[in-house]
Amino acid sequence: MQNTHPASPSQDVSTPPAATNTEPVRTDVLIVGAGPVGLFAAFQARVLGLQCEIVDVLDRAGGQCTELYPEKPIYDIPAVPGCLAQDLVDRLLEQCAPFAVPMHFGQRVEGVQELPGEPQRLLVATDAGKRFEVAAVLICAGAGAFAPQRVSLPEAAALEGRHLHYAVRDVSRFAGKRVIVAGGGDSALDWALALRKVAARVTLLHRREGFRAADHTVAEMRAAVAAGEMDFVVGMLGALQTEGDALVAAQVRTREDTLTLPADELVALYGLVSEPGPIAHWDLDMRAGRILVDTTTYESSRRGIFAAGDIAFYPNKQKLILSGFHEAALALRRAYHYAFPDKALVHVHTSNNAALKEALTHGTD
Ligand SMILES: Cc1cc2nc3c(=O)[nH]c(=O)nc-3n(C[C@H](O)[C@H](O)[C@H](O)COP(=O)(O)OP(=O)(O)OC[C@H]3O[C@@H](n4cnc5c(N)ncnc54)[C@H](O)[C@@H]3O)c2cc1C
Repeated sequence: MQNTHPASPSQDVSTPPAATNTEPVRTDVLIVGAGPVGLFAAFQARVLGLQCEIVDVLDRAGGQCTELYPEKPIYDIPAVPGCLAQDLVDRLLEQCAPFAVPMHFGQRVEGVQELPGEPQRLLVATDAGKRFEVAAVLICAGAGAFAPQRVSLPEAAALEGRHLHYAVRDVSRFAGKRVIVAGGGDSALDWALALRKVAARVTLLHRREGFRAADHTVAEMRAAVAAGEMDFVVGMLGALQTEGDALVAAQVRTREDTLTLPADELVALYGLVSEPGPIAHWDLDMRAGRILVDTTTYESSRRGIFAAGDIAFYPNKQKLILSGFHEAALALRRAYHYAFPDKALVHVHTSNNAALKEALTHGTD
């Protein structure tokens, strides 16, 4: 799977806090996953009067639309005759923007437990030490948690996070460094082009001459190579040479030869793989890695835990964005009863919803 776009600066990218014992965040619903379904779920939750927060393991919203096919057109969203996948995500972000839903990126939802003494509430934890105390969890985790495809050399693990990177979060840390960017998609080319402006030297390394990137990006890269602003090498990583903690060079196997490329930093952008992740161990009834739900409520086999979008399973389930929107809308109506057991949910169309109009006009607290 190819990660095609660097994080958009317009999206809220929060750095995960170190593991802490701080008080859990209290909210009504935790939404796992900021793909199209999670984003629409956030809007729906707020329209119904539910407070919610979103967590995604990636550093930006959009799920498969953003990571796998941002520039492909989608034609089957009702009332949208056609739009690019990334445009759909941008519109979903715009739709829920007035509610300022907190989005926590770069952290993976790991565990869930019933709150001792308060069995109607759930405590959910992320791998960054953040905890949420909620009435319901809506899992919109798609195909699972995306993770970068890692460099498989034995010496790679010790360099990860220091001189081997699977994402660029801070361009300034590459200033004056010799950088190898490995990969052949938009992400690798975009970052090679961007880093050449700050690095001492950038080498783009890809196993073949052809790329899986947009034509204009490939043309820009080739022009930069022709102008002597960066290098391009066709080959495969063979070994990483270190001195102490530092990376000093990469050995690269080309068709004819083995090259030694001096390097201080390696940015490997080979794309993403999706992993079933920890939710597979939440003791939910699963079918082929997906969560079995009751189609009247989209609730799983555990009270208060719902699933919508590609991760949900039921007979005749279609992995379509529009199905996920419907599933999330119904799941949240059930979740409302868990958040407010003493209140009836009164149905009001959005066209008549005064509180919604106020939020869209003036924002919310
Ligand atoms: C090439 C392609 C073309 C497609 N075209 C269409 C189309 O034309 N029309 C259509 O309707 N559908 C299309 N689809 C399918 C559509 O993209 C999916 O149905 C949709 O993305 C599902 O949305 P989702 O929000 O359920 O999951 P996803 O988009 O997969 O998002 C899930 C998010 O959850 C996050 N996550 C997972 N686990 C965790 C965890 N434990 N902690 C934190 N975060 C987590 C992931 O990082 C991810 O961002 C297409 C798919 C592909 C691959």
